[in-house]
Amino acid sequence: MLISEELQSAMNAQIGREFGASLQYVNIATYFDADSLPQLAAFFYRQAEEERMHAMKFVHYIVEAGGQVRVPSVEGPQSDFKSAKEAVQAAFNWEVEVTNQINQLMDLAIKKNDHIGQDFLRWFVAEQLEEVSTMDTLLSVVERADQNLLWVEDFLARNPIVAEDHGANE
Ligand code: MG
Repeated sequence: MLISEELQSAMNAQIGREFGASLQYVNIATYFDADSLPQLAAFFYRQAEEERMHAMKFVHYIVEAGGQVRVPSVEGPQSDFKSAKEAVQAAFNWEVEVTNQINQLMDLAIKKNDHIGQDFLRWFVAEQLEEVSTMDTLLSVVERADQNLLWVEDFLARNPIVAEDHGANE
């Protein structure tokens, strides 16, 4: 087994959080979809797919490293949002929190002298820079639009700001 019990259990917890984020982003996407805002909806549907892919990356890694995957139960996501800003702010806060969680996983891999684990986690470290920066951009655009969400739709149509795929499907 190439993975320590401690890192395995921390990664299993992260799998739950990544699936949880995927569900949360589906809810945010439908909030916009129901409001006839297709660009914002598409943005969050894509984010939901990405979060699922993040969870599956951890799943495959644990199996490859000879560990045991134990997908934890996932808390139900928030369904109601008062405004677009509240929904995007929640997404931004989440990405900042995930960055801390990834840093903690990396700290643990370093502490355990787990070089393979560090190599695997480095992809997530780079990914979080993209995720936080993308959400930060979307949040400033929504704030600047000052409730004129058609302006945000127009911005998204002209400037796709979805994070680059860092070879995630390789
Ligand atoms: Mg993620």
